Amino acid sequence: MQGPDWQIGRMFGIPIHVHASWLFVFFFVTWSLATGYLPDMLPGLSQPRYWGMGGMAALLLFASVLLHELGHSLVALRYRIPIGQITLFIFGGVAQMRKEPPHPRAEFLIAIAGPIVSFLLAGVCIGLVALLEWLPAGTSVQGLTALGALLGMVNTQLGLFNLLPGFPLDGGRALRAGLWAWSKDFYRATSQAALVGLLFGISFGLFGAFLLVGALSGTLSSALASSGGWIALLGAFLFSAARGSRKQAVIRASLASVPVRELMVNNVVSLSPDITLEEAVNQYFLPYGYGGFPVVQDGRLLGIVAVRDVQTVNNSLWAFRRVADVMQTSSDEMVVSPDAPVIQALEKMMSFGAERLIVVQDGELLGLLTRASIGNFIEQRHPSGMGRPS
Ligand SMILES: [Zn+2]
Repeated sequence: MQGPDWQIGRMFGIPIHVHASWLFVFFFVTWSLATGYLPDMLPGLSQPRYWGMGGMAALLLFASVLLHELGHSLVALRYRIPIGQITLFIFGGVAQMRKEPPHPRAEFLIAIAGPIVSFLLAGVCIGLVALLEWLPAGTSVQGLTALGALLGMVNTQLGLFNLLPGFPLDGGRALRAGLWAWSKDFYRATSQAALVGLLFGISFGLFGAFLLVGALSGTLSSALASSGGWIALLGAFLFSAARGSRKQAVIRASLASVPVRELMVNNVVSLSPDITLEEAVNQYFLPYGYGGFPVVQDGRLLGIVAVRDVQTVNNSLWAFRRVADVMQTSSDEMVVSPDAPVIQALEKMMSFGAERLIVVQDGELLGLLTRASIGNFIEQRHPSGMGRPS
């Protein structure tokens, strides 16, 4: 997401962020409650009270969205999918999953956990409103009733809207899980579910525009103008998110169809663990201009040394330290088999923050696969693509 965001805390180890666009929603919701809903429901109170209650209701709506996202996140964590962060923004919330779900069942359960939380919250609020009816009427009972009814309604809408079967909405994820289980093809399922998302985006856009134009030209009630604008914006957002997901799925599908062998660099320059850092810099890093080199002894891979490893040593000491002192020793994280699909290599690079993987077969160095070469491949196959894989 573009624009600034701030971390406001952590829950279950997950950083909770608020995006700048959320402040706009907070103000808008507070304002519309304080000037419309609350004076209608509870006439005769002072302006500061309407604004105070409006602000509190907006905060509770914010908590509702957060709980919805936590619902997704806790189920994802059960499947060992790390959550980067939860971000609240203009259209609600998003929990950033660092990995795709392992199987359709996991995807389905993660997807429906959010709406289930919203419906439970709605049930609690509506139950509370029903209980309040038994109490003697008074301003505070009326206030709580208005708040409970509002939260019950918004949580119901939040659950229902998210169940629309267009990817990347929750319902679209559930649809993808079904298509994935059916076709056994994750990328095709993503692309199909995102197509439904595109259609919902277009429909919302058109419906919103219809309301807006109708309200502005006087054929419809002018009160519909802001709903129309809002629905049109939501449609545009859904459209662009679905289109992005579809593009990603196409790119990932082509990365899944190519083995690492085809994109790797074959004639890899490697260096010996016994040379000094000064030699490494002067004879390898500077002349070749590469960011890193495999370290090899007697044809066996020992590890990898990158510019940043060399930089951990002060350059006045480069003549006295050997490559073996600073290299990262070979581990599963940095190697890949030549027959693995490129997408698997890319996912490994992303989860460990690596720029390159060493291609190894039976302990022997075969080549090097870099993010840059994957990026070039995507550029060639999908010229309108997004350049750098993400
Ligand atoms: Zn959701």
